[in-house]
Amino acid sequence: MVTYPGAQQYVPDTRDLAELAAASAGCRGCDLYREAERTVFGGGGHEARMMLVGEQPGNEEDLAGEPFVGPAGHLLDKALERADVDRGTVYVTNAVKHFRFDRSANGRRRIHKKPTGAQVSACRPWLEAELDAVRPEVVVCLGATAAQSLLGKDFKLTQHRGEVLRLPGELREGCDPAVVVTVHPSAVLRAKSQRDDMFRSFVQDLARAATL
Ligand code: SF4
Repeated sequence: MVTYPGAQQYVPDTRDLAELAAASAGCRGCDLYREAERTVFGGGGHEARMMLVGEQPGNEEDLAGEPFVGPAGHLLDKALERADVDRGTVYVTNAVKHFRFDRSANGRRRIHKKPTGAQVSACRPWLEAELDAVRPEVVVCLGATAAQSLLGKDFKLTQHRGEVLRLPGELREGCDPAVVVTVHPSAVLRAKSQRDDMFRSFVQDLARAATL
């Protein structure tokens, strides 16, 4: 298995989100910085009470430099609105801060590729720093990659969806948020015949998280 130096050496000792974001631009903790356009750090304020964690930036996020601005982000916006959660009050980020992709045969399209476990581990220090900076009351893991980054690599989303969980001990310094897991909005987009049902369940998960 490939091993990486990891992001820890690039993470400054600060709780200032702007400083963290600026430092993340120079991260070389794994190989993903080589092909992607830029680091996509989280967005939102220190005062956010809910943190949403996705997998990694997509094509549009990589171009824009902001998380959840592509099709999955639009669906997330709609779901948050239905769940009566103001996106302005949440902090959104990803388990991995660079876009991993394959090129299409003609080289024109960049096609999402799931990050490896080693890349997720390498990037975790940034997520830990964001948790420490924001200290949210509730964390929503959007999909298995986010859940496995925070709750362990063997975590099974399908077994624990709907439960109120806690972070492992080493991540609880300074904050002890409730953690819930749900699907990634891109999974709702990919669903065909069941898309409406999946969207409704997704909204319910977000609404329930907001009550925590
Ligand atoms: S994916 Fe994470 S660890 Fe890898 S280079 Fe980017 S910011 Fe650093």
